[in-house]
Amino acid sequence: METTAGVERRLRDASLRVTRPRVAVLEAVTAHPHADTESVIRHTRARLGEVSHQAVYDVLRALTAAGLVRRIQPTGSLARYEARVGDNHHHVVCRGCGAIADVDCAVGDAPCLHASQDHGFVIDEAEVVYWGTCPRCATAGPPRSTVPTP
Ligand SMILES: [Zn+2]
Ligand SMILES: [Zn+2]
Repeated sequence: METTAGVERRLRDASLRVTRPRVAVLEAVTAHPHADTESVIRHTRARLGEVSHQAVYDVLRALTAAGLVRRIQPTGSLARYEARVGDNHHHVVCRGCGAIADVDCAVGDAPCLHASQDHGFVIDEAEVVYWGTCPRCATAGPPRSTVPTP
């Protein structure tokens, strides 16, 4: 687990002032990848004590804008946050329970997919979501679907 000093350094490296809420939120997102907002608030409170929803939202927005946190939102899912940024990794999402796992970039340097048509755009990222059934749902029988089929 990363030290608080390491988290503070990441904030400073991104030219963000180090505040206790920012440190607590970034620690929470680092320790719990793909947590939704409610979970981030819960984990932040466990570290910091009472903190308002709005304060956590504001910190998440600042961290996302600074590139320290990545916000992902698969179809039908709540927004999730992760501190693993900059490596263009992808996600696999379970149609049954909504579980999310990281999938490394398919091949080579980002972008790992070469669009068959670029329409003149300079493409710097490919966002891929793989959908399927997680091992737990696969053994539990037919899924009680919570995630709509896209
Ligand atoms: Zn599942
Ligand atoms: Zn991820």
